Amino acid sequence: MVLLWNDYYFRNRRFKDWDPYGYPMTSGVSVTILGTAQDGGIPQSGCSCRTCMEAHKDFKLRKYPVCLGVIGSDGSKHIIEITKNLSEQLMIWTTIGKEIFIPETVSISHLHLGHIEGIGQFGKPVMGLKKIDIFLSRENKKNFDNRSDIRLMIEDDNIRTHAKEFYQPFEPKEGCGFSLQFIPIPHRSELGDTSAIIINGKERNILFMPDQDSWEKTLEYYSKDNVRDFFRIFDIDEALIDGTFWSMEELPGRNISEIPHPTIQDSLQLLGKKMEDDPEISFLHLNHSNPVNDINSKQRKIVELNGWKIAEMGNVLTL
Ligand SMILES: [Zn+2]
Ligand SMILES: [Zn+2]
Ligand SMILES: [Zn+2]
Repeated sequence: MVLLWNDYYFRNRRFKDWDPYGYPMTSGVSVTILGTAQDGGIPQSGCSCRTCMEAHKDFKLRKYPVCLGVIGSDGSKHIIEITKNLSEQLMIWTTIGKEIFIPETVSISHLHLGHIEGIGQFGKPVMGLKKIDIFLSRENKKNFDNRSDIRLMIEDDNIRTHAKEFYQPFEPKEGCGFSLQFIPIPHRSELGDTSAIIINGKERNILFMPDQDSWEKTLEYYSKDNVRDFFRIFDIDEALIDGTFWSMEELPGRNISEIPHPTIQDSLQLLGKKMEDDPEISFLHLNHSNPVNDINSKQRKIVELNGWKIAEMGNVLTL
């Protein structure tokens, strides 16, 4: 009898929705890393580099564009960024039960392709969802709402867009047990502005900062002269930061200064070795050309020897 009950419970329970004794579970909020690549993902379209060719052959080597899945203490589901690989990412997120998780809200850091490419999946031709709340900065909401495809989805009631002010924490759903906060980050602004998104939990704060032009500009913007002081402003315990390129020599034939990001080498220079009170730092938004994609690379070892990490899809952070 006990075995049967356990079997039923483990196969049918929904994460944090309830416990076998009928009490709501209050074990907090979880953040799952659902994507760690730069906007193009790995393999990148049309790329014949070794990393991309190997990823075509071996699914385990694939990386999807940056995305986080946050499950509230009430069991509600929220994603940050909506990518072309939404389908696979929802499956990675769904660790328990047979029904694939469907997000109730989406928060978007900025309007560059890889961060919003999956939005059409919510519409009539695919999922046909209703009343999904989309949170963006004021400027980005204006630009987003002006797209004809987005206007159609709003008219069809698939999505409802909401502007959020910088620095103002908001709950994506009332009672979800965490709040989000957009903070401005200097980054190419052809399509709108760029935010980093802070996930504020009861105990811990996670910073998601996939894109920035340079530490110099970000630190200048916040009037800080080092990265640690920047993290301290927002009391960050864990940071997921822009690791697009390893070095400036990485993209032969393309002018890397036209696609500015701090290199991981720059960031290591500024951070040095991890010290006792430092936040955990993981690099993500990895370009296909970045040698840290190879788990045996010496560049990845350098990151780890300094006490930092390369973010991995499926990793779960708790708040
Ligand atoms: Zn990006
Ligand atoms: Zn490639
Ligand atoms: Zn960008």
